Amino acid sequence: MKPIPYGRQHITEADIQAVVETLQSDFLTQGPKVAEFEQAFARYVGAKYAVAVSNGTAALHLCAMALGVNETSRVITTPITFVASANCVRYCGGTVEFADIDPATALIDIAKVRQMVESKPKGYYSGVIPVDFAGNPVNLEQLRELADEHGLWIVEDAAHAPGGFFVDSQGKKQFCGNGRYADMAIFSFHPVKHIATSEGGMITTNDEELYKKLLLYRTHGITRDPELLQENHGGWYMEMQELGYNYRIPDMLCALGITQLARADEGMARRKQIARVYDEAFAGATGIDVLGTNPAALTADGETGHAYHLYVIQVQDRKGLYDFLREHNIFAQVHYIPAHTMPYYRGVGYKKGDFPEAEGYYEACLSLPMYPSLTDEEQQYVIEKVKAFCKA
Ligand SMILES: *Cc1c(COP(=O)(O)O)cnc(C)c1O
Repeated sequence: MKPIPYGRQHITEADIQAVVETLQSDFLTQGPKVAEFEQAFARYVGAKYAVAVSNGTAALHLCAMALGVNETSRVITTPITFVASANCVRYCGGTVEFADIDPATALIDIAKVRQMVESKPKGYYSGVIPVDFAGNPVNLEQLRELADEHGLWIVEDAAHAPGGFFVDSQGKKQFCGNGRYADMAIFSFHPVKHIATSEGGMITTNDEELYKKLLLYRTHGITRDPELLQENHGGWYMEMQELGYNYRIPDMLCALGITQLARADEGMARRKQIARVYDEAFAGATGIDVLGTNPAALTADGETGHAYHLYVIQVQDRKGLYDFLREHNIFAQVHYIPAHTMPYYRGVGYKKGDFPEAEGYYEACLSLPMYPSLTDEEQQYVIEKVKAFCKA
């Protein structure tokens, strides 16, 4: 059996052609593919605006900037995430406040967020960054209610969940990143994610004002828009109005994003199929717990809105299983080491023991191979090895 990773990209002939054509065009950095990708992506998630950027971390940073995060800001996020979800607050000088997870789903526990927010005067916290961890969507309708009561903004980290959805109180599907409840949402196009552009990211929003800020901050804070200029000296004239960055994504990568996005539904269907096979294999297997789906992600007729970026199981001897799988060429992975236990976050005052649910989850979790090109044979091999180790 050749090595089986926990996640990997799927590149087709159409993807290669699209990149080569753009490489031969007049535009290597900013060209027509950027806007085309943005429009297609906005349509896919059901948002008004999309801004393509160099990676998901840049997307988070721009969101924090656009919301005015600064030294006085306190922002709540989950310890079970990739550290970038928290780091964007630090880039702007703000304070990261973690809320522990719900152990049933490993998602941020909204009840705990409520306790935190209600224990402080209004204005103490600025915003929340929930994460659709593993592709499991957060119930943003619930979180929005709390946010509105306390004047908080919401940035949805949907890096794991393009195409995922939860069902709102009216029975309607609310797709991750559609901008209905969150002020902005971010996505990543890193190769292990659903849509791969090598490096790449996207911000979606329904708020025109935020959208305009994101465009400005993406390109050095520079504008050429005649309506925004304070002066105008001629055709060459532009103004740097804010301190922005170069967070642009090249046209070539957007061309790849467009062809990848065209196959997103296909990839999602395959991920759900793989999840069903794992679910059936591990149902009733003693010693193997499958991380639960947020009940809000299930429709009345049993369809799931879980986007299955990851398939997470929990076992008692996690290190033993991880090592055993590696010996058999299966490269399972751990998502995530709790952010607050990282040396950097310990350095700003957190310590082991602060978030017991997140730490307990971490001790047992393992992400099994999950990606559209995983073959049935490879998956059966993975299941067989997991069961053999767990004697299930
Ligand atoms: C991948 C990821 C990011 C960052 O995306 P990059 O494109 O790698 O910068 C942010 N948040 C989460 C939850 C991620 O998984």
